[in-house]
Amino acid sequence: MRVIAIDGPAGSGKSTVARALAQKLGLDYLDTGAMYRAVTFAALRRGIDPDDGERVARVAEDCELEMTDDGTVRVDGADATIEIRGPEVTRAVSIVAANPGVREQMRRRQRAWAEQRGGGVIEGRDIGTVVFPDAELKVYLDARPEVRAARRSKEVSDLSYETVAADLARRDALDQGRAHDPLREAPDAFVVDTSELGVDEIVERVMERLA
Ligand code: C5P
Repeated sequence: MRVIAIDGPAGSGKSTVARALAQKLGLDYLDTGAMYRAVTFAALRRGIDPDDGERVARVAEDCELEMTDDGTVRVDGADATIEIRGPEVTRAVSIVAANPGVREQMRRRQRAWAEQRGGGVIEGRDIGTVVFPDAELKVYLDARPEVRAARRSKEVSDLSYETVAADLARRDALDQGRAHDPLREAPDAFVVDTSELGVDEIVERVMERLA
């Protein structure tokens, strides 16, 4: 199984780099952040309070998640591609992701996904540290907070820079400070500060590490 793990905070360039790498290497791509978002969406849609750990963990276990290669995300058969990026889900996702029961289910699903395909390029927060400690290469991307906020605010045009920056800082703190599988660099990760780098340059550096 050939797994390339890409971790880092929001706006560090993970998705763009992971997609480009997957294409270059002929591997499938998995966005695990979208999976946490999808579970959050499923819980909200069922009227479950994101703080209700037991019920949310049950949703993570029994909801039907479909992640297609073109980025479409289906939750219990319905297309949720747009909704999982919306403010309601973004506000609640880090609470859902701090739930150890949810993390256990996501880990199980992510391992199964990779085993079915003989590996892939997998991006998230704990891929190199927890889900695939056996990955062929672990990459940790980071960038200065204001650079990450600027990138994110370009993607969500209906929110102000200040709102996006505040949300990012809040999620960073929750993701780095949680008790279970916090966001951190694996000791053996290849760390790249992407603040001043273009996608091609980042991809090139990672490809050099693989060679
Ligand atoms: O990558 P994205 O910003 O869409 O991820 C949404 C949230 O999902 C993160 O803020 C984090 O709380 C959670 N997440 C996680 N572990 C992963 C991927 C995402 O906890 N492997």
